[in-house]
Amino acid sequence: MNKNKSIHMSNNEFRKYGYAVIDWIADYYENVEHYSVKSNIKPGNIRLSLQTLPPKTGESMNLILEDIDKLIMPGITHWQSPKFFGYFPANTSGPSILADLISSGLGVNGMLWETSPACTELETHVLDWLAKILSLPEHFISKNNGGGVIQDTASSASLCAMIAAREKKNKGKSNLFGLKEDFVAYISSETHSSIEKAAMIAGIGSKNLRIINATDDFSMDSNQLRKQIVKDIESGCIPFFVCATIGSTSSNAIDPLYEIGKISKEFNLWMHVDAAMVGTAAICPEYQYIQKGLEFAQSYVFNPHKWMLTNFDCSCLFIKNQNYLINALSIMPEYLKTESSNNDEVIDYRDWQISLGRRFRSLKLWAVIRYYGVDGLQDYVRNHISLTQKLLDWINADKNFEVIAPAPFNLICFRAKGSNKLNRNLLNYINDSGEIFITHTILKDLFTLRLCVGQTHTNIKHIKQAWDLIRDALMEVK
Ligand code: PLP
Repeated sequence: MNKNKSIHMSNNEFRKYGYAVIDWIADYYENVEHYSVKSNIKPGNIRLSLQTLPPKTGESMNLILEDIDKLIMPGITHWQSPKFFGYFPANTSGPSILADLISSGLGVNGMLWETSPACTELETHVLDWLAKILSLPEHFISKNNGGGVIQDTASSASLCAMIAAREKKNKGKSNLFGLKEDFVAYISSETHSSIEKAAMIAGIGSKNLRIINATDDFSMDSNQLRKQIVKDIESGCIPFFVCATIGSTSSNAIDPLYEIGKISKEFNLWMHVDAAMVGTAAICPEYQYIQKGLEFAQSYVFNPHKWMLTNFDCSCLFIKNQNYLINALSIMPEYLKTESSNNDEVIDYRDWQISLGRRFRSLKLWAVIRYYGVDGLQDYVRNHISLTQKLLDWINADKNFEVIAPAPFNLICFRAKGSNKLNRNLLNYINDSGEIFITHTILKDLFTLRLCVGQTHTNIKHIKQAWDLIRDALMEVK
């Protein structure tokens, strides 16, 4: 290597390859619907294709970009395909990608207000916008003690909520001494596994997680919840936390927030509400009924990175009283002290999350809200729900299929009438075709197919293709 040549990419080179990369992404989006949605690569094959050892000397950007096409793309499942209907979506959009690129370019670490004031203040401001757009209760807005914070995922957000709840109940003592008593948390049989993980990490333990049965529509049975709390108190346990879900992962159930909220108030429990995907529906006034009872919640999480056109990762946690969160998570080594923090003039978001460092995520959320406007976001949600409802009508009208759970939004849980084995074969046949991608769950012991409409560019053509394919596939596997 020429000793006088810098090891770094020059600005001119950066410009050249930057344009090429943007072209690459635009081409990808233009063609993504023609790719096999699910990667069919065999385990280990991507690694086998990679250089065994890291290169001793630097390689050209051309070669790196070529290898992305050659070595990496075969192992990509195309979440951004309009025919991706699996799990819950992780959708994205032009303004989000571009703003995220700028965030990468700025490369700031927004751990403290002082480490980039705009990173903190934009976050507070955008989360207040969101609270208003969604008509969240006033106590989640950043005045008095409330406010929002962007986390990487709903799992981290729920863990923070549980830790704050634990410390509230235990008056900060478990941070000092660990937990001495049996603190008990409540979920339903449909609650996302992230809450159990939170209980494991927060020192509550899976043993102290009570799983309340779901009713026929898969929502939490609040009578059972009440009975279980009373039983736990009688046996000397300390109930402290309940998670209610708006849009459960398996079944899209909406828990009775109002009833759960009243119970949480009666027994002084922290009610956390997990609305990871369906929370976005509340952008439309006609769907805000899902939030009835949210006024009882101490914390609320939803993921713009699922259904609100914002690149992964972006999960918004709103908290009624930030002091509980900060008291639970704050730690102040000398090297992080700043004048402004000492004077309580500013928010230091490092105290609102597990990690210290944090990305400038609000930039992409701000870009999305500004680019689409509230009207655009509402159109987007309504369109997905209307596409889903069309498909639901077709499934309901077909005597070979049955719908297993209420489907008021963008997830349909359905199956072919017949055995679990038939449905498993059907799922495999559909996904092996590469034409669409769906996933499964088990509901009431029935192997059930889940089809979620939430990708940015999905339209009626893709829904028709999906339905034709599913019906044809059933004929093949029967
Ligand atoms: N809660 C619900 C209801 C979910 O559906 C999911 C994921 O799909 C999560 C929590 C976890 O989300 P994350 O991947 O952001 O941790």
